[in-house]
Amino acid sequence: MEIIKAEHMGFCFGVKNAVDCAIKSLDEFGKIYSYGEIIHNKDVVEFLADKGLQVIDDKDAASFSEDSIGKIDAKVLIRSHGVSKKIIDFLEDHNLEYINATCPKVKSIHKIVSKYSSQGYEIIVVGDKSHPEIIGIVGWIDGKYHIAENLEKLRQINIDKEKKYCLVCQTTFNYNILKEIVEFLEKNDYTNIVINNTICDATLKRQKSCYEVAGNCDIMLVIGGKNSSNTKKLYEMCKEKCEKTFLIENYKEIPYKYIDKNTRIGITAGASTPDWVIEEVIRNVRESEQNNE
Ligand code: SF4
Repeated sequence: MEIIKAEHMGFCFGVKNAVDCAIKSLDEFGKIYSYGEIIHNKDVVEFLADKGLQVIDDKDAASFSEDSIGKIDAKVLIRSHGVSKKIIDFLEDHNLEYINATCPKVKSIHKIVSKYSSQGYEIIVVGDKSHPEIIGIVGWIDGKYHIAENLEKLRQINIDKEKKYCLVCQTTFNYNILKEIVEFLEKNDYTNIVINNTICDATLKRQKSCYEVAGNCDIMLVIGGKNSSNTKKLYEMCKEKCEKTFLIENYKEIPYKYIDKNTRIGITAGASTPDWVIEEVIRNVRESEQNNE
């Protein structure tokens, strides 16, 4: 059996920072609120919940209201995905203490869309409209915007060549899809669009290295939350290269029936998967080999 690990996988610095902030604050205060699940990983969410982290549901949070103020009796942690300007204003206007763990790369997208929309540009956001990062980004746009999750949706926007547009992209988006969109815009002379490739380096490195490994193994294990957008993208990309690709949340979901002593197993993990979950998977795969000898 051979285990090939992707060169780049697991926690990115934005997620690590948010989780470290949460642990530090919980050790100090015993209780904090997180605005939506801090990361899309069940194991980490449970670990933090045991330490005292309480999640304010995204849906409640979206309609943060005067009623909710009285219920907030601890600091509120803003996760790496970021939130809309309305939420930050609400917290500040009501003197509610908060820890802003928005990833600096997401913050820079907030600044771009805020600047261009205030100058009359329509904003095109490439990404998944239901993802919290996108919900946060559009909350910084002062004017008209469009969300497109692929080339087909972008074509439906009916871009007016007489108007000014600014395009940004979800930090964890599939680079191949963005490339397709940018090529289409360039080919059709949409010089009226300021294009910002805001896919994060951490995402690009994880996508590139998973692709390399998946093309070189018998089965591929993608470790991460099933509700994690970046993990799902790694899964889709690996599946293109390796038919036997499995998305598993932890060691309990290892597909042993496809593994024997001759299997070359590729491993990658989403940006919200901690090292200990990855190590547990590798340890269990190795132990299964020993048990079968
Ligand atoms: S994927 Fe990139 S942008 Fe997103 S939290 Fe991680 S480091 Fe920040």
